[in-house]
Amino acid sequence: MAIRLHFWGAAQTVTGSSHHLECAGQNILLDCGLFQGHRQQAREINEHLALPPEQLNAVVLSHAHIDHSGDLPLLVKKGYRGPIYTTPSTVDLCEKMLNDSAHIQESDAEFMNRRTHRRRSIGISADAGAVLPLYTQQDAAQTLQQFRPVTMHTPQLLAGSTTDAGFTSTTFEAGHMLGSTCVLIEAREKGQTTRLLFSGDVGRKGLPIIRDPETAPAADYLIMESTYGNRLHQPIGPVKKKLANLVNRTARRGGHIVMPAFAVGRTQQVVLLLHELIDEKAIPDIPIFVDSPLAVNVTDVFRKHEEEWDDAARAFANAHQDPFGWERLRYVRTVEESKTLNGLRVPFIVIAASGMCEAGRVLHHLKNSVEDPKNLILITGFQAENTLGRAIVQRQPEVKIFGEPMRLRAEVDSIGELSGHADQRELLQWMEPVVPTLKKVFLVHGEPGAQQALKVEIENLYKLEVVCPKRDDRFEVG
Ligand SMILES: [Zn+2]
Repeated sequence: MAIRLHFWGAAQTVTGSSHHLECAGQNILLDCGLFQGHRQQAREINEHLALPPEQLNAVVLSHAHIDHSGDLPLLVKKGYRGPIYTTPSTVDLCEKMLNDSAHIQESDAEFMNRRTHRRRSIGISADAGAVLPLYTQQDAAQTLQQFRPVTMHTPQLLAGSTTDAGFTSTTFEAGHMLGSTCVLIEAREKGQTTRLLFSGDVGRKGLPIIRDPETAPAADYLIMESTYGNRLHQPIGPVKKKLANLVNRTARRGGHIVMPAFAVGRTQQVVLLLHELIDEKAIPDIPIFVDSPLAVNVTDVFRKHEEEWDDAARAFANAHQDPFGWERLRYVRTVEESKTLNGLRVPFIVIAASGMCEAGRVLHHLKNSVEDPKNLILITGFQAENTLGRAIVQRQPEVKIFGEPMRLRAEVDSIGELSGHADQRELLQWMEPVVPTLKKVFLVHGEPGAQQALKVEIENLYKLEVVCPKRDDRFEVG
């Protein structure tokens, strides 16, 4: 038998996850993520699909993050009408996230068109035509219609038949975010079966709320992420104590804390940790604000899917009415309310998006906070190069906010311990149970440096062949 693997997105990069599999004339897609980067390059990449939509039988989505799900509305816009299989909580998360993403695409196109119009009106030649959004909220709504929820461990026929040629998927907990999975694909042809394991994004043991990654199932081939293939994280255990120390120190000196955080996942984890600390009287009961409309919506999805939380979070929920809500916590919905926080003169915490300080309401809070040494800017996640978040983490003496230079005099710290991605050691441990049956490993979702380091480790430790495919590379296995 022959299965053709066609690597398309997240190939030697960490964004735009998408892989195309073909066997006996049946075609499936693993993930259909948005490539995030500079506007023009991102647009070109996101416009192009791995195959014509009419040839595609099914999509399997590993988890809701936009770099895995965010190009689905484009696939649908271009004519795909087939099923998209994923976990029930991923369906609910995608409802909020794809709509938010479509709104960003629409606003972005509007901004570009206004700029062209302005330039023309003052005599600057602008030969660009009207920019259309990559996709609209209508496309996102149609995409939602095509989602088919499947619970973990339940085999799902994707294409063909169970007795003859075809594809079946079974998902397992990846421990990376709510509803995240790794996907076992079984491809059948001429009475033979080949098993391919797609890791999705591999999580970590001990993350707040999220269940630990499950033991990976046996497979013949492995497509594995490699985001932190060259890094080791700090252990998660002490993070709560560290957070308590930072809150206490800032509150004592009368400052406030700005936490730039990703709306999906990180915000909910931080809120739960703060709730636990207040409960244990380890920090003062100061006002806490979650200032991101998407985070507010996503928190509702977290509440709805308690069945997917880990035991500790469920036990906490049993003892409390709402783990994500208490008297002094406010979810801020309107811009007006967001602006009133600027006038507060008592210690408080504000958690706001975007996580890398590139856009969103966090910018106003940073503008209002960075110049006062009493305040703390607490970074909660990965900060890419050339972002304001990176400049803050590097403690550059001057940072630009809304184009205005400002002195960075606030304290800066980070709790990178909450990273949702396995590090090098954790990736090697995660794949260990699969090693006895593996014939080859394909590394995806990593920068070349991280991939190279992990490749060497896998080759030395497990004596396996490791490949790092580029975009549009094709391989035949079976
Ligand atoms: Zn992810």
